[in-house]
Amino acid sequence: MRKRRKRLRIDRIFICLLILVGLVCLIRFSIYTIFGFKILGEAKKGNTIKLYHDNANIWKKTVKYINENMDEVNIKYKNYTITMDSSYFKRNMNIKPSVENKKITSGDFYKQKGLYINNNNVINVSSKIKFKLPRYIYKNGYVDLYGVSNEGSYELLESRKKVDKYYTLNIYDNYKEYYITYVKLEDIKTTQQYVLDEGEIKEIRLEFSPTNATNKKVSYSGYDKSIISIEHGVITALKEGKTTIKIKGDDMTTARIKIVVNKKKEEKKEEKKEPEKPKVTKGDDGIYYIDGIMIVNKSYPLPSSYDPGKLLPEFMSAFNEMLGDATSDGIKLWIQSGYRSYDYQVGLYDKYVKQDGKDKADTYSARPGYSEHQSGLAADINNPSSSFNGTKEAIWLKENCYKYGFIIRFPEGEENYTGYKYESWHIRYVGKVLAKKIHDAGDISLEHYYNIESKYSN
Ligand SMILES: [Zn+2]
Repeated sequence: MRKRRKRLRIDRIFICLLILVGLVCLIRFSIYTIFGFKILGEAKKGNTIKLYHDNANIWKKTVKYINENMDEVNIKYKNYTITMDSSYFKRNMNIKPSVENKKITSGDFYKQKGLYINNNNVINVSSKIKFKLPRYIYKNGYVDLYGVSNEGSYELLESRKKVDKYYTLNIYDNYKEYYITYVKLEDIKTTQQYVLDEGEIKEIRLEFSPTNATNKKVSYSGYDKSIISIEHGVITALKEGKTTIKIKGDDMTTARIKIVVNKKKEEKKEEKKEPEKPKVTKGDDGIYYIDGIMIVNKSYPLPSSYDPGKLLPEFMSAFNEMLGDATSDGIKLWIQSGYRSYDYQVGLYDKYVKQDGKDKADTYSARPGYSEHQSGLAADINNPSSSFNGTKEAIWLKENCYKYGFIIRFPEGEENYTGYKYESWHIRYVGKVLAKKIHDAGDISLEHYYNIESKYSN
């Protein structure tokens, strides 16, 4: 009896020892993960460690990076493993991106405090990095993400992104550093009163200070819904009356607009005739307009001297507003090609004519002076190629861009009006009022809407 009990105790000790050894082994040889790489073995000083990744594309990029930048690292091409001395690994590569609070030293955001992420020494192969944000940033709820390109320019990559304690940074190909910033909205200014006629459509103009505030999303409330309706910051006057719109911004900043809607004057039946064709007028600057909207197509070119040099501010602020909502919907948008100078278009068009002949080139590329890209009010989004058609980004853009004042400039089925084949990626800023009218008319082309031509004269 006693003997049996003793043996049992020895068995137990033996099992406990086994579990202990097992646990130690598990800890010692656990597989660490860094940016999607599995580190096989321990990353102790002087050890040789192996990195493993099973994505062939990431692997190819990594091999290229290491070949170009790290002489001492020994790469085994087989089995997707890299062998390197872990002390080298620690000394020469930041395993984690350096994340620090730092003031931005150039660009439009000079001296703005932001969270700085240096991506220089990280093997930039994984598409995502996750890290903790400092409280002063995440408590605000929203951030902007700027990327610093290899040429040193600051570009807004994600606008008004909702954040929590942890931030997942999407690694973009062409940026060496990132800034996550938050600028608190302090004030909203607006015109105090709008006087409208029944049926009139008007965009609510707001001035935000500071102008680079992160969260410019506002809500409209308090108004009489039988007198006006509001959709994406655009008022439609429904019937005669007075009401007040209460505008609420980030952190309860508020403004008010008084609205007076006047009854539309009764028109005599005899006077009713076909609505007059809007007229294209040529300004002193040599630019063609209809109702203040710049017209650029095969019939109405821009003068070679017209050179805004970049996308105009009204385009950019509308685009940034759109970027914020797209980001919230999980849609990634960026400007692939914005402003293009007259001289640039000379080179581009010549290239296409040499490649495909003049007739074919005219269906997809504009002649110099005839490109909307010269206006500073048009841009190609994400991927200017027919492979963009039907993607979730293209669908989102088509369904939502009018809310921000954009139109798809060369819609499907409108080739006879525009003179260009369908381009799901080319957007034009026309302002919220006209964009809404064109959307309500069935997302037709600008030429179709205004009943104007787009044909080369020769
Ligand atoms: Zn374009």
